Amino acid sequence: MTYPLPARLLDSVRIAWHITSWCNYSCDYCPVLVFHKRTRSGTPQDHAFDHYPVERWIEAFAAFPQKDILLKITGGEPFLDRENFRKLLLGVLAMPRYSIQIDTNGSWDPAYFADVDKSRLSLNIAFHPKEVDFATFFRRVRSIRKHGFHVEMLNFVLAPENLDVFEKHLEEVERDGFFVNLSPMNPTGVYLGRTVRSDREMDLIERYNVPIDVKYKVIRPKTRGRLCWHPALSYYVLYDGQIQVYCVGAFQNLFTEGPPPLPREAVACTLDECIGCTEMYRALVDEPLVTRPLSLYHRGEYVREVKAFRRKAALQRLAARIPFGDKLFGRPISLRSELPRPPRKPDLLPLESIKPALPADPVFGAVDGGPVLRARSRDRLYLSGWAASSRYGAPIEEVKLSLAGSEVGSVRYFYARSDIAAKYQRQELEQSGWRTMVWLPALSKGCYELSVEGVAPDGAAATLGRLMLEIID
Ligand code: SF4
Ligand code: SF4
Repeated sequence: MTYPLPARLLDSVRIAWHITSWCNYSCDYCPVLVFHKRTRSGTPQDHAFDHYPVERWIEAFAAFPQKDILLKITGGEPFLDRENFRKLLLGVLAMPRYSIQIDTNGSWDPAYFADVDKSRLSLNIAFHPKEVDFATFFRRVRSIRKHGFHVEMLNFVLAPENLDVFEKHLEEVERDGFFVNLSPMNPTGVYLGRTVRSDREMDLIERYNVPIDVKYKVIRPKTRGRLCWHPALSYYVLYDGQIQVYCVGAFQNLFTEGPPPLPREAVACTLDECIGCTEMYRALVDEPLVTRPLSLYHRGEYVREVKAFRRKAALQRLAARIPFGDKLFGRPISLRSELPRPPRKPDLLPLESIKPALPADPVFGAVDGGPVLRARSRDRLYLSGWAASSRYGAPIEEVKLSLAGSEVGSVRYFYARSDIAAKYQRQELEQSGWRTMVWLPALSKGCYELSVEGVAPDGAAATLGRLMLEIID
C-alpha cells in the first residue's frame, strides 16, 4: 500500500541546513564537533561561507522551485559570521516563499541585523548555564526581542548540571511571555555513553513534553522499515554544499548537481532510530501519538501543541486531587514503563579457569583509532574505546583523558560492548564501552601525547592507550 504526500503539501519543502560547526561556546552536551576559531592558513573549515560565497548560497536557494519553503538553520552558532549571515538573511528573506527558523545561543548583537525583515524569521534561543549566567542570557534575549526578532522559544537542555538553574528561572522566563522548551538531552558530547536518566529528569521531561516527543527522544523505538513522509517533504544540506533527501537519500552537490528529486509518497525508514527532531517522527504514517495533520511543522505549531498539552496535564493533576477527578479528566500519559532498563551492575568475576584468562593488569581496555590524530588548537575531538577491571568487571569508575600530562576530560558513563563480553566470555565485561567528545585547550603547533587511563573502584589505575595528537593550526 502506498501513502502519497497530501496534495496540499506537494509544493512545500523543508530545508534543514547545518550552516556551520563554528561556535563560541563549549557545551559539554553539544552534539557537534564544533570549532572555535578560523584557521590561520585560511583552509576551509566546516562553515558554509568557507566553501561558497554567500551570493552563491542565495542563488542556490533561489533555484528551489517550491512555493512554500521552510529553511531551518542550525550550527554551531549561525550568527557568529555576522557579515555573511546578515547578507544571507537579507537575500533569502527577499523571496516571499521562504520563512526561516534559526537555532542560536543568543550571544550576538541584534542591532547589527536592524535592516533584516523579521516577519518570516523565528528564533529558538538556547540557554547554556555553564557558558553564560542567567541574568546576562535573559538580558540578551529581551534585547533580541526588543529589536524586533520573533523569539519563538527559549530552549533549556535538560543536562544533569542544568536542572537546578532551570527550575529556579522557569517561572520568571514564562512570566515575561517567553515559551520555554525543556528539551531532553540526547546522549552526546561527554554524555555519549549515558543510557539512564534520573527520576527528577524524567519528571521534568514528562511534565513539559508531549508524549510523542518523550517517546522518540527518550524511549527511542525502532523505526527501520516504517513508512514516513519526512523524506517526501525535506532536504538536509551541509555547510559544504552536500544535499540529500532527508534522511534516506545519497548526498550530492547542490551547486553542481542541484537538489535530488523528492519522493512523492511515504518511504520506508532506513535508520534504526529516528534522528529526533520534532517534525521528523511526526511524519511516520503509523504513529498513533501524532495528533495533528501532516505539515511543514513550523515551530509555532510545536509551541501551540506543547502549550495545549501542558494546560491539559495541569488540569489533570489538579483534578486528580478530587474524588473521581481522574475519571472525569483522565490522567497524564506516562511512558516511564517503556524506558530501557538500567544496565546491570556487574557481579564479582568468578575465578573459573575454563574461561579465557583476563589480563594480569587490574584495569585493562583499549582506545579506538590512532595512533596519530590531527586537530587544530581548541578543536573538539571524538574518542572512544572500552575499559574493564579484572576484579570489578565493568563499568569501572572512570576513564581519564590527559594531554601532555594535563587532564582534558573524563568519562563516567559506559555503554554495552557485547563484543568485549564475547571475547572474554564474561557478561560482567559488557558495560565496558566508553565514548566522548573532548574540548582541546589553546595549543601551539606540534605533537602532544594523549593518554587514556582507566580507574577501578578501588583506585587501581592503568593506561589503556597512548595516541599522538598533532596540532596542525
Ligand atoms: S550546544 Fe550550541 S551553543 Fe553549545 S557548543 Fe554546541 S553549538 Fe555551541
Ligand atoms: S522515522 Fe525519522 S529517521 Fe526515519 S525516515 Fe522518518 S524522519 Fe527519517
